[in-house]
Amino acid sequence: MSQTYMIVAEVRGGKLRQVSLETLHAAALAKGEGDRITAVLIGHQLAEFAQELSGYGVDQVVTADHAGLAHYNPDTYFAALSEMIDAVQPCAVFFGHTSTGRDLAPQVAALLGAGQISDVIALEKDSSGLVFTRPLYAGKAFEKKRFTQGPFVVTIRPNNISAAAAVPGSQAEIVQTAYVPAADLRSVVKDVVHKASGKVDLTEAKIVVSGGRGVKSQDGFKPLEQLAEVLNAAVGASRGACDAGYCDYALQIGQTGKVVTPEIYIACGISGAIQHLAGMSQSRIIIAINKDPDAPIFQVADYGIVGDLFEVVPLLTEEFKKA
Ligand code: FAD
Repeated sequence: MSQTYMIVAEVRGGKLRQVSLETLHAAALAKGEGDRITAVLIGHQLAEFAQELSGYGVDQVVTADHAGLAHYNPDTYFAALSEMIDAVQPCAVFFGHTSTGRDLAPQVAALLGAGQISDVIALEKDSSGLVFTRPLYAGKAFEKKRFTQGPFVVTIRPNNISAAAAVPGSQAEIVQTAYVPAADLRSVVKDVVHKASGKVDLTEAKIVVSGGRGVKSQDGFKPLEQLAEVLNAAVGASRGACDAGYCDYALQIGQTGKVVTPEIYIACGISGAIQHLAGMSQSRIIIAINKDPDAPIFQVADYGIVGDLFEVVPLLTEEFKKA
């Protein structure tokens, strides 16, 4: 019998999040012959995004579109999603491992009485079904898990599973629910003020240029920002740099910050403490710039430059400008 896999897509900064397309691809890999995929979107003014999502080979797009859903609120989003789940009766719900996904997924798992596997970086099928891989101990080990019964809930870590490709000519049915947020909400989000001004989303960036205490001041981040601009990269930071007040905590990468898995991670003036590695060691290529040749970051780096970041970073920026 045909089953429905649900993916919860997100819109951010006026576009569909890359991780949502990766999550969609994960669901497509998981589903069996004849199974359906329903993509859901919750927010406001979603028509254009629903249309876009419908071109990625899904069977159905369901939206909850209301001014009261313009900002994420766990109460309203969960209520809207619960109605969608009730209508669709999915066998599995896939989220991006984003702050929204991490907040909603356990609530949905509880609602469905389902098992949950979080922070999935790969999935494969064997003779007994689906096997999900997730990192443990700050990426030092990997765990393979499977569900023994359905339904199930997973969250997909950004930048690990390739994004679904648009399917030319595909046009799924788009359904808008009649969901309206309740008038007596416990809390209402009035506005969201973005502190980090980076143009590229840190958790989804293909390249991250990251600064540590070695940048020495707020102004010390300028050469890193210039390099990031040329590479269309996001700027990140160690906790050392955040604690010293050189940058906002929104940039912090590591155990108590964000987890990033870009194609290229450029660590500038970062020593490579275990808590920092927890947030970036899964990056495909790590380039370290540090004036101390014994800095631990060189043990995880694919390429190392021993030198003063204030000399090396501007040189790199000039060279990349020429490319
Ligand atoms: P430092 O360790 O001081 O290193 C600075 C580096 O810059 C040095 O290697 C130095 O050689 C180099 N340098 C200096 N000047 C230059 C220059 N001109 N050119 C090139 N190199 C230069 N840390 C995180 O990053 N993320 C976390 O999420 C996190 N969570 C934590 C959670 C807990 C519970 C604890 C206890 C700690 C946590 N930490 C975290 C802190 C972590 O242990 C380190 O203290 C921190 O990562 C150090 O930051 P840093 O590498 O920028 O600074």
